[in-house]
Amino acid sequence: MNLDALMKIEYGLFCLTAKKNNFDNGCIVNTVTQVTLTPCQVAVAVNKCNYTHDIIKESKDFNISVLTQKTPFSVFKNFGYQSGRNVNKFEDFQIKRSANGLAYLADYANSYMSCAVKEIIDLGTHSLFIAEVTDAQVLNDNPSVSYDYYLNNIKENLPIETNSKVAWRCKICGYVYDGDPLPSDFICPICKHGAIDFEKIENFE
Ligand code: FE
Repeated sequence: MNLDALMKIEYGLFCLTAKKNNFDNGCIVNTVTQVTLTPCQVAVAVNKCNYTHDIIKESKDFNISVLTQKTPFSVFKNFGYQSGRNVNKFEDFQIKRSANGLAYLADYANSYMSCAVKEIIDLGTHSLFIAEVTDAQVLNDNPSVSYDYYLNNIKENLPIETNSKVAWRCKICGYVYDGDPLPSDFICPICKHGAIDFEKIENFE
């Protein structure tokens, strides 16, 4: 079995936002799919380690901002490389809100959808949220960013801070594990992906 086959599936990238009390939070996901038209429903799988996951489970609503190819790396870093448990990801943002009161990324998205959770399916590491789209707006005609486009044109590698000759880098977020071998059950502390998503790096300066 070659798991690279799954990398051939084309994905979009989205900012999933939710709110707890007055705290706005969001994360980057590639797992948004429209699953029915009548009623209009989407499915989104979210890692249980994400703070956004816990907020949605409680609040039962979220927004999806469809990110464009013009989205800078800093936005992916802000929403994807840190946790809302420690920082306010919206601190430097002029927040725009949809009718449901939740934030959306007006400056980096070409559209957004507001969604109300109807069902939560437990997938082990992730929850699959099935939600009805209660509102949807198109913001501009900029092309949506695919995961592939992001990897080839937007993503920057973070500087490597290690004294070892061999280390392992997370292909998803760039986190570097200082040492070798990488434990097979290792979970990336930043993006929560497993050891399978790490690549060996050697002889770097
Ligand atoms: Fe990672």
